[in-house]
Amino acid sequence: MFPPRQAQIRWAIIGPVLFFSLLILLVNGYAPPPRPRIAPASAVQPLTAPERPLPPGAATPTPVPLTGDLLQTGLLRIAIDEGALRPEEQPSVADELDRALAYVVARFGSPPTAPMEVLIGLEPACALHGIAYTDIRNMQVFTCASFPAARAVSIMAHEFVHQLCQDRYGERHVSADLVLSEGVATWGAGAYWLGDAPTFRAFVRPWVANGEALPLGISYVGRPISDMNKLYYQWASFVEFLIQTYGREAFDRLYLTGQNAPGSADYPGVYGKSFDALEAEWRAWALGG
Ligand SMILES: [Zn+2]
Repeated sequence: MFPPRQAQIRWAIIGPVLFFSLLILLVNGYAPPPRPRIAPASAVQPLTAPERPLPPGAATPTPVPLTGDLLQTGLLRIAIDEGALRPEEQPSVADELDRALAYVVARFGSPPTAPMEVLIGLEPACALHGIAYTDIRNMQVFTCASFPAARAVSIMAHEFVHQLCQDRYGERHVSADLVLSEGVATWGAGAYWLGDAPTFRAFVRPWVANGEALPLGISYVGRPISDMNKLYYQWASFVEFLIQTYGREAFDRLYLTGQNAPGSADYPGVYGKSFDALEAEWRAWALGG
């Protein structure tokens, strides 16, 4: 059973800085812009989720410390756990992360306000997941050498956008509506998440057309990983819809009004329409164009 949209889950637990990107393996594959698709869908193991949902009552994880020799790029201090990446991919990953950051900054529209730390950690269970500790400017993705480095970079692109949100919106970021915080992080990661699809609108269109889309205003907590991935894409397309239809300035005002729970931002105050009305508009928009 899943709580209704307005249920009082203890969202504060999810809140402050932990925007788990349990974006697991997106079936369509993450394809960084300059590269062809890394692996066919058939090569993707049915894994876990890209950010790990924190159930109500769960302890807040603490950041894994960065150890070993750190790589330094313009704004990133990077640590890579032994065994997390294939040896032949390790030399290029710092440049790939730098390129991902530049890409999401251009797409999101504002830069980080200070350097940040990055960990590519080893996940012994061989899953892929990320987390952003935006208060201490520390982004972490856990992976193993079974995955191409590009997949970790794709999740990191999403985590970078969480940091850009903290830097753009300030403290209100930590209480942002989950639909908007995860939606904008996924939308900001753009091509790193889209694979061959040109837009998030195009990506979700088949789900909407076939009646397979989930309601936008639900949480992923307690749901299957496939639903979590679907929600992240649907939320990204909702952000795309809001920005394209009503503009970035209104979206920025909306982002500041959330109370963590999905659908909790002040949609009527910003757009003069309820969340449900906007969801109906989004469905029609997804089918058009
Ligand atoms: Zn996230």
